[in-house]
Amino acid sequence: MSAYKRLLLLYDLAKPFHFVVSPILTASPQTILRVALPTPLRRFFDYLPLKDTSLQSYEPGMRVLAPFGKRSLVGIITEIASHSTIESSKLKPIKRLLDTEPTITHNILSLCLWAIQYYHHSPGEVFQNALPLALRNEDISALEFVTTWQTTTKGQLISYAQLSRAPKQAEALHVLRDHPNGLTQTVLSGLNIKPTALTALKGKGLAETHEQLNNYPNWAKESPLKEPPLQLNKEQQQATDTIIKKQDSVLTPFLLEGVTGSGKTEVYLQSIEQCLRKGKQALILVPEIGLTPQTMHRFQQRFNAPVLAIHSNLTANQRLNTWRQSKAGSAAIIIGTRSALFTPMLNPGIIIVDEEHDLSYKQQDGFRYSARDMAIVRAKIENIPVILGTATPSFESLHNAHNGRYQHLKLTRRAGGAKLPTFQIADLRKAKLNNGLCETLISSIKHELKHNNQILFFINRRGYSPVLMCHDCGWNANCVMCDARMTYHRQPAHLHCHHCDFQNRIPNHCPECNSTDLRAIGQGTERIDENLSTLFPKTRIIRIDRDTTRKKQALENQLKQVNSGHPCILIGTQMLAKGHHFPHVTLVVIADIDSGLFASDFRATEHTAQLILQVAGRAGREEKNGKVILQSHNPEHPVIQSLVHQNYNTFCKYAMPERKLTGLPPFGHIAILRAEATHANIALQFLESLVEQFNLNNTSTAEAWGPVPALMVRKAGRFRYQVMLRSSERIALHQAITALLPQIEALPNNRKVRWHLDIDPVHID
Ligand code: ADP
Ligand code: ZN
Ligand code: ZN
Repeated sequence: MSAYKRLLLLYDLAKPFHFVVSPILTASPQTILRVALPTPLRRFFDYLPLKDTSLQSYEPGMRVLAPFGKRSLVGIITEIASHSTIESSKLKPIKRLLDTEPTITHNILSLCLWAIQYYHHSPGEVFQNALPLALRNEDISALEFVTTWQTTTKGQLISYAQLSRAPKQAEALHVLRDHPNGLTQTVLSGLNIKPTALTALKGKGLAETHEQLNNYPNWAKESPLKEPPLQLNKEQQQATDTIIKKQDSVLTPFLLEGVTGSGKTEVYLQSIEQCLRKGKQALILVPEIGLTPQTMHRFQQRFNAPVLAIHSNLTANQRLNTWRQSKAGSAAIIIGTRSALFTPMLNPGIIIVDEEHDLSYKQQDGFRYSARDMAIVRAKIENIPVILGTATPSFESLHNAHNGRYQHLKLTRRAGGAKLPTFQIADLRKAKLNNGLCETLISSIKHELKHNNQILFFINRRGYSPVLMCHDCGWNANCVMCDARMTYHRQPAHLHCHHCDFQNRIPNHCPECNSTDLRAIGQGTERIDENLSTLFPKTRIIRIDRDTTRKKQALENQLKQVNSGHPCILIGTQMLAKGHHFPHVTLVVIADIDSGLFASDFRATEHTAQLILQVAGRAGREEKNGKVILQSHNPEHPVIQSLVHQNYNTFCKYAMPERKLTGLPPFGHIAILRAEATHANIALQFLESLVEQFNLNNTSTAEAWGPVPALMVRKAGRFRYQVMLRSSERIALHQAITALLPQIEALPNNRKVRWHLDIDPVHID
């Protein structure tokens, strides 16, 4: 089989494979440790084992401390090889073997090796993503040891009478004798045995301590339920049956497309229940950290089994704890964001990717992987089912469902009798505005408040206004580092570039003409907050954006206020669009969607449609009917029309053919090479020579488009250009990239540019 066939392509992954070994130069057989080290280099490094350890101690997936230049790095053994391309006299031994069993389990190793090839990324950085933060430290063990107390032989034999003057010690000895396998300090404290008594026994040679592997508790397989499950409706039942039935046969990923509020969670819960009954674990990916407490709560309510979280808002220790328990098989349900994908499971049962369309599943820097796509690969490696759930499938997933790679399950109605919201367009053309809002909107809000309902006001722009302008000469407050305007913030008052984080004071007068008539143009969340407070002085207004949720617990407290049910107006950005269940919201206002309709990214309309339906989906989720008002200057735009009068399906039928025509995903495969430099010409010339080289290679049916400037050419003081590589065949694209990558190092100006490769990019700006 050729190397390219082995470059197992998404969805075609048949079984785990091993990395292609480099050509053999030296003949003498010896044991070589092939190691992935945390460097940006796209290669593995060969080392020798330690002289005084048995070769049986080494297994792929174990961590080692290896000398690298003047430093020592924690790396992962990916292969035990018998030959190296490096002369054996030049090979160095590792410094230390850090594990006694693989930290990166066999299946996670296969997953990482797959990703190294598919994303053409540096092995070390891929494994860095798979390793819990704490375990990048050479002194932290992957296993958890606990100290247990036991009696010594002497302690077993002496009579209690000898301890009659020390009743506390006698009591402690009594407890220890009752537990010959030993007890941990924590358990002993629970039994009211003080450490002082134990130390005293130890001093007398009656008790001793042992370091033992922590034994995590397991859940009761036969009774995993804490509350009875809901009675499923017909569609839910059908979906659940299909998923459960398939668990033991040939596995196709499931695309669970269910309108907002259709009860996808209940389908997840009942599928997971079947796993727990077999003693198998479930991994659930959610797009946003903010959603994990809510999801955790839902699962903890249902199940009598450990539900653990893993995401970047937890401390390194908390994450390590979840990781250890999952690897040991005692965490029944693991819930986390993107990187949770790499959590090992002893008895994997199912993977669920909730809100699969969400862009946050794609990492946007360093190792640019898609956790959704890799979840499919992982499920295949583990041989378990995977569910991609959403109300608004990505075009990629829809395409895969249409051509039979995924099994399409549909929930077309809201569960429990709630209705889907109705849409209304507020035409902003020539509308008279009062505090920035049109009259239709104001009277609708009044109406809802009168009925003690809640309103969600969605605007995807934080700060007070996106522009600060001089009314006399037209000067704008621009960022000195970017081709972008500074956002005007009032509390605290400052100008802030949301692209590079540069901050500045607000000038008292125009730097161009000295006029003091500086005006805030446009609205962000802060200004909407101010305007709504003016219009509805008696109503509680809760603003949820990155600025108001910086403090720990802030978001949770705000959500608690909303869920208490008091009438209020909720103002929010993207953060609120996803997955939240607000039972009392009846009106959703989408303040500005026009920018999304005319963006240059070919996926802009898809993302806008998804966002509209997701935000709209927060309305009327229980008894009260919901309504959505869209403000637009382009009410006739086909995207708006298809969503308002039809549904997501109609919108897709309108938008998909365009992709087919242009050969863009999901009908073609793309990668982007981005380059940036302190001088525009350097970045541009670098990419021009790259395209030249690409065309010279002429290896395949892949084509290069560009270079073109990024939408915002200058960002954080650097000039940015990009080239798109495209092919209708995935294999051809990857062959072309494999040929090109080593040549890039040799291009002129290679050292003066920063460049990276983005496979299956989701943002093209
Ligand atoms: P989704 O994730 O599809 O947007 P949810 O799972 O949050 O929807 O469900 C929406 C609401 O419907 C929840 O309050 C849930 O308890 C309720 N629900 C789900 N399934 C049923 C059912 N079969 N019968 C009654 N209520 C249900
Ligand atoms: Zn001016
Ligand atoms: Zn900037």
